Amino acid sequence: MKLILLGPPGAGKGTQAVRIAARLGIAHISTGDMLRAEIRNDTPLGRMAKAILDKGELVSDDVIIGMVKNRIAMSDCARGFLFDGFPRTVAQAEALETITQIDHVINIEVQLNRLIDRISSRRMCPDCGGTYHVSQYPDGVCPCGGKLYQRDDDREETVKNRLTVYEQKTAPLIAFYQKQGNLFTVNGDASIDQVELEISEKLGA
Ligand code: AMP
Repeated sequence: MKLILLGPPGAGKGTQAVRIAARLGIAHISTGDMLRAEIRNDTPLGRMAKAILDKGELVSDDVIIGMVKNRIAMSDCARGFLFDGFPRTVAQAEALETITQIDHVINIEVQLNRLIDRISSRRMCPDCGGTYHVSQYPDGVCPCGGKLYQRDDDREETVKNRLTVYEQKTAPLIAFYQKQGNLFTVNGDASIDQVELEISEKLGA
């Protein structure tokens, strides 16, 4: 199965992506995680991307599309994949259509006033890609043993810009996929387990 998870920053895409991909036995592809790995490894792409991520802007469509093309050609994508954070612009969605066909687009809807609080309490694991609320593991250690950290772009100023960028560039994808008839919306204000259940039911998984 080939899926897209859509939603604003802080909607819970990363959390749901890990669960849904594991449930379906498909690859989880987070373009944000791929960019952060490039930054950690101090590659030329990572050095270019860091300034963009720190401002909460988007990396260019060409770079992202190239990265995604290479990624979905890998063997772990043979059974399908779930995109988390891609596409983020109509141009990316149009390019994706020329590469592969998507079965379902899952739109996670969340009240905007909740997002800033959620994001500023968010901690990430560099080893397993897990995303947690700071209160879940106050000692800062992931169940996998990784050292949890706060993303540089989860600071309040950057978060506000990321939400604006989402509204301007990514939210139009909802209408784009609605027109194609393969989008369904779930209530992201519910608990993590409930959101996962709603997605699974709607996928028939
Ligand atoms: P995320 O982890 O999905 O929130 O992404 C973190 C940051 O990486 C975004 O704020 C963008 O700067 C960049 N990024 C991730 N995915 C994309 C994409 N599909 N297109 C452009 N920029 C992206």
